[in-house]
Amino acid sequence: MGQSTSNFANIVSSMKNKLFLPLFLFLSIFQITFSQTRKIYTTTPTYAEIVSTYEAFAKQSAYCKLLTYGTTDVGKPLHLLVISKSKEFDAAILRKQNKRILLINNGIHPGEPDGIDASIEMVNTLLKDAAKIPDDVVICIIPVYNVDGCLNRGKYSRANQNGPEEYGFRGNAQNLDLNRDFIKADSKNAQTFTQIFQTWKPDVFVDNHVSDGADYQYIMTLIATQRDKLHPVLSKYMTAEMLPQLFDKMKARSYEMSPYVDFEGETPESGIVEFMETPRFSSGYTSLFNCLSFIPETHMWKPYNDRVWSTYELMFSMIEVIQKDSKKIGLLKADADKQVKEQQGAFFLNWKLDTAKFDSIIFKGYEALHKKSNISGQQRLFYDRTKPFTKKIRFYNRYKPSDTADVPDMYLIPQAWSRVIERLQMNGVAMKQLVKDTSISCEVTYITSYESGKNPYEGHYPHYNTKTRTETQALKFYKGDYLISVDQACNRYIVETLDPKGDDSFFAWNFFDAVLQQKEWFSDYIFEEKAEEILKADPKLKAELESKKKADKAFAENNRAQLYFIYMHSPYYEKSHNRYPVVGIYTKSYIDRKF
Ligand SMILES: [Zn+2]
Repeated sequence: MGQSTSNFANIVSSMKNKLFLPLFLFLSIFQITFSQTRKIYTTTPTYAEIVSTYEAFAKQSAYCKLLTYGTTDVGKPLHLLVISKSKEFDAAILRKQNKRILLINNGIHPGEPDGIDASIEMVNTLLKDAAKIPDDVVICIIPVYNVDGCLNRGKYSRANQNGPEEYGFRGNAQNLDLNRDFIKADSKNAQTFTQIFQTWKPDVFVDNHVSDGADYQYIMTLIATQRDKLHPVLSKYMTAEMLPQLFDKMKARSYEMSPYVDFEGETPESGIVEFMETPRFSSGYTSLFNCLSFIPETHMWKPYNDRVWSTYELMFSMIEVIQKDSKKIGLLKADADKQVKEQQGAFFLNWKLDTAKFDSIIFKGYEALHKKSNISGQQRLFYDRTKPFTKKIRFYNRYKPSDTADVPDMYLIPQAWSRVIERLQMNGVAMKQLVKDTSISCEVTYITSYESGKNPYEGHYPHYNTKTRTETQALKFYKGDYLISVDQACNRYIVETLDPKGDDSFFAWNFFDAVLQQKEWFSDYIFEEKAEEILKADPKLKAELESKKKADKAFAENNRAQLYFIYMHSPYYEKSHNRYPVVGIYTKSYIDRKF
């Protein structure tokens, strides 16, 4: 045994001298040549240059096709480049052929154009050598999503960013942050994105960004869709298999990456916190449809060139993992879709950080120090790049549900709420319409309390901390009103948007505000006598009034408040005040009856 080992060692040693050495030399020369041929990025293309580059790709190769969809707020369409090894470009046929679909979005924040350049570079690589196009992964690229912002080009809107020289602006033509617009879809951009997403139904989604925040050694950081809110079937694969492969591949490609660095203390050393992307955000929206979703965030203060190439390497790492696990991802997504379709009763809604749980991770940071500010004379924070460190830190990456939605068999939405119905239809929610006017016994929800933003946020004054109560009522509905059965693969989207308690529900985004306003009132001097009659006829209400007067001095001294109390408990008070217009129906048989 010893002998043979020794012989083997000798053979290896002689091979090394005669064969391996020249091979190593060749490889290192090749590597130098390869890195020299890599473009050095200091600029990013204009909108016109992006479009002409993609048009040239489409002319150059039969493996890709440039599609246009809908429009954006600036009147120009969204482009989608599809790269397909089989040269098939029909989404439905490709899905039947069991291809995985990867959707890459760029320039949602055009001031963060790393993905725009990295995608162009990636398409170049793939089209130059078709052997590199994966057999089972169809790559769909939105070259630039915020077309409006991309056209609004300048050099000052990213004060803390290290290049490129010029770039687009974050807000779109309506000054909306499109990465808050995926549910309310105020922008044409979001509506067109929805059309693309629902046509292609991607298995994996990547939305390329640049981060803000602390300084550290990594060029690339990654937000994976939050594991607890992702369907468990997919979550298990993503955390145990997909993410480790991505992190390993990036390390092997010399772009070791970290989970996205978000933290609650002053610096990351106190522990980083996984980002919770609610459905208003791109990956929060896409993951509602069982799509494995990722937000690469390069570090703003690293040179633009490094950021572009790390984004490029991450996208290739992603493609390799999807190709390798293509069958598995397909089966898991189908299983998750089936389970969501069959899920009944209760759905988790809204999440809060579970501070009791965390992973320990190795983090490569820079010492955070303080020195005197030359401006204010006060102490200021700075990261000392001459003092890199590698430390174990806490990664708080678990969330627990903070609410539950009790979901009916069906929702019924009066056709009056057309803006909500349009958005449900855009998202592929199947609906049936009542065929005649009818009265239906249903579960109605009253909004009992809520808070609202004091300042406008993305064109709205969103509601939060919404509390509700339910009761059964018989209500009139009309021919053409919409019934939505909660037995669809998009159940998560239906529940998150239609349960008014949802952080990003249509209620939260002000689509139903009109019901929060009372329409009819009373005149004190006339209602006084009527109120007396009401109390005479209702001794229980009279007793409630008396006890409230005893418990509440201000109330006892306020004549109008007492009259309003009686009014509210009388048949004169409108039942529709604060009644949420979407009702629940619990009998499956309703769907089969002809209304
Ligand atoms: Zn961004």
